[in-house]
Amino acid sequence: MLKSVLEGMAEYYSTELAEKVRRGMTENALKCKFNDGAVPIGYVINDEQFFEVDAVKAPYVIQAFEAYANGKTIKEIVEMLNAKGLTTSHGAKITINIVTDMLKNRRYIGEYRFRDIVRKDGIPRIVPQALFDKVQTEREKNKRDTARHKAEDDYLLTTKLFCGKCGRYITGESGTGRSGAVHRYYKCNGAKYRHACDKKTIKKEWIEDLVVRHTCEMMMSDNMIEDIAGIVFRSFQKENPVIQLLKRRLGETETALNNLLKAIEEGIITSTTKQRMLELEQTRDELNLKLIKEEMKSPLSQKRAWSYG
Ligand SMILES: [Zn+2]
Repeated sequence: MLKSVLEGMAEYYSTELAEKVRRGMTENALKCKFNDGAVPIGYVINDEQFFEVDAVKAPYVIQAFEAYANGKTIKEIVEMLNAKGLTTSHGAKITINIVTDMLKNRRYIGEYRFRDIVRKDGIPRIVPQALFDKVQTEREKNKRDTARHKAEDDYLLTTKLFCGKCGRYITGESGTGRSGAVHRYYKCNGAKYRHACDKKTIKKEWIEDLVVRHTCEMMMSDNMIEDIAGIVFRSFQKENPVIQLLKRRLGETETALNNLLKAIEEGIITSTTKQRMLELEQTRDELNLKLIKEEMKSPLSQKRAWSYG
């Protein structure tokens, strides 16, 4: 009984506390005071929790907007700001995400925002309206360009398809029919740009299906799989320096052993010959063991057994 009363009270107080915090934050927001979260670059929070322009960093924000309006990429702006030594309010380096957010942050035109509370001219403005608007237009334009590039990338055979008639590249093109349906096809660049070739356009889906089907058939043949497995295995083996080293030492040991055997055959035997021979044999066995262990570590050792075994 007492326990449930205490729990009820605790819940009441925590609900009340949350409510107080929420009300406090809302009151702050209505006065356009800073509540929580990261302080945008170019602002500082004063003792009364109001936004103030950071005279040191604000000019960099304007420079970033100007650079973007003049056609610089976000990556170039990141490099520029880092070169000037600008950091976030936490002292972190400037990244692509930070600049991307910066260029659309409406606080820079004086808009105060906290959750669903928005106050125009609630905080001091840093970026002139015309500059901010120009940057938004550029951002929209660049977004559309990126979408167009993506659509072009969808043509799998670009740079891989050549015209049988004139030898030029055959590249993707699309058009919208009278019904509004989009037709996508490949067209010889000779036909596309200079009427120098009379090769007809090829339907995108038809030729891509054909090429993919033939490629799959080729890839699935036993010889091809063996060849690829071999190439992959050799390239991985090349990359393992421990195996390489062990193999070299093993080779050297075996050469030394052979030389010693030849010497014995020719009757050149000294008091140390037998001892040297035993040492070399022991080294060879140790190296072999190490090599097997090393090869077992590699997931490719099983593939080799399957591929060559
Ligand atoms: Zn052609």
